Amino acid sequence: MYQENILDHYRNPRNFGSLAKPDMEAVDYNPLCGDKITMGIKIKDGKVIEIMFSGEGCAISQASASMLTEAVKGKSTEEASEFSKDDMLELLGIPVSASRIKCALLGLKVFKLVLYGFLGKSLSDKEELG
Ligand code: ZN
Repeated sequence: MYQENILDHYRNPRNFGSLAKPDMEAVDYNPLCGDKITMGIKIKDGKVIEIMFSGEGCAISQASASMLTEAVKGKSTEEASEFSKDDMLELLGIPVSASRIKCALLGLKVFKLVLYGFLGKSLSDKEELG
């Protein structure tokens, strides 16, 4: 069974919904599991002032996206772009099997697509976000 904090984020996702006028928005899927995450951000003075996501899928995919939004909200774009795969797995706090790793990292992947889209960078393959 999943840990209580994962179920809590799954049942009561934080920053859930969509921004009326996001500075950047992206969507991505994990076809292996059927997970979908849409995420939008607003940036002001170099900081992530608003971030919201919506989606559907398994508890790990939705809870990790919810945890991620809490972790990066208020951070500078530099700090937020350094949020890594390891940081995400540490936040989740459970061992994630190889078959669920794409679930756990989908939210992070979408966040990087959004943030890098805003910053004009591209997501490099070496980040291994699936
Ligand atoms: Zn999944």
